[in-house]
Amino acid sequence: MTEFKINTDKPVLVTGATGYVAGWIIHDLLEAGVEVNATVRDPNNAAKVGHLTRMGEELPGTLTLFKADLLQDGAFDEAMQGCGIVFHTASPYTLSVADPQKDLVDPALNGTRNLLGSVNRSESVERVVLTSSCVAVYGDNADCAKAPNGILTEAVWNTSSSLDHNPYGYSKTLAERAAWEMADAQDRWHLVVINPAGIYGPAVGGPVPTSESFNLIRQIGGGDFKTGVPHYESGKVDVRDVAEAHLRGAYLPDAQGRHMLFEKSGSLLGMADAIRAKYPDAPLPTKTLPKWLLWLVGPLVNKAMTRRFVSQNIGIEWRADNSKSQRELGISYRSTDDGVVEMHEQIMAAAKG
Ligand code: NAP
Repeated sequence: MTEFKINTDKPVLVTGATGYVAGWIIHDLLEAGVEVNATVRDPNNAAKVGHLTRMGEELPGTLTLFKADLLQDGAFDEAMQGCGIVFHTASPYTLSVADPQKDLVDPALNGTRNLLGSVNRSESVERVVLTSSCVAVYGDNADCAKAPNGILTEAVWNTSSSLDHNPYGYSKTLAERAAWEMADAQDRWHLVVINPAGIYGPAVGGPVPTSESFNLIRQIGGGDFKTGVPHYESGKVDVRDVAEAHLRGAYLPDAQGRHMLFEKSGSLLGMADAIRAKYPDAPLPTKTLPKWLLWLVGPLVNKAMTRRFVSQNIGIEWRADNSKSQRELGISYRSTDDGVVEMHEQIMAAAKG
């Protein structure tokens, strides 16, 4: 691995600055003294951008906010002017949508094409770091068994998701594929992709994020699963490691390709256990629900808990390889159990006001 050194000579662009992940990327860039142009949908929404403005005032780097919507053609042109690196995090992350095409696929896919169109027009951008996801690698846990040697790696692509089944994973897969197509069609800028598993850990500040990561911990810690949780396994990574991987992907000269990021595979009950170790009186689940019960009543209580989801995911081991992220990006993973507890504490503090 070549030396990791943050270059403060040129400004960088971060899209989706109000987001959970982007908050930490911007924090780390500002802390290193970088000039950051950050896009948000509404720079005048003080509740959503106040913590960013504060970081810009308190940390050594400089922050300028720009208005940009993924679906507005050319929206990123102005914010990208003079930037050497673009971090593209903006993409809707929600599991409950009315219209998957309009609410997920269009902003993820057309937004990525729109952003990279601006990159193609810009003369200064040398590298784009795209926040993709592990769900661009696999759709269902059953896909692990179909992967070479039964383990997901960066060589695998999600082929099981669609508009009807796991549309969020579908949106991320289409967006990452489109990014590679546009990157491969030219040789002026270089694409590095980060594929995090489920992200946990505290938000950098401001309001509790709308990211699904927080919704899940709110449900687990708030008593929604008191009678039991589905036996669902997935990869987990701390948000601060995700931010570090983005910076390393941006500034390590040899960084290339996709990078799966996770500390470990864990279950929903495992996250409840991590919170219980510190907060034994919290209304947490103590057991998993039988698969047959979820198959029977899941679709009635949760739109995303379809019978296909239950049969392809519940009780099925999640197996993946994170060695490239350690070897080529130099990531040394934090405990995601600790991060889950910190998130729970943030949610509880916000609820008290
Ligand atoms: P988040 O907090 O919901 O952030 C999503 C960001 O995208 C927000 O800043 C949001 O802006 C922006 N966005 C959505 N639609 C937009 C549009 N039409 N135009 C402009 N901006 C738009 O979620 P997150 O967890 O930080 O996710 C950030 C990235 O990480 C996403 O690409 C997500 O797919 C990826 N990721 C997340 C996880 C995870 O577990 N959280 C795991 C793997 C990958 P508003 O604030 O205006 O809505």
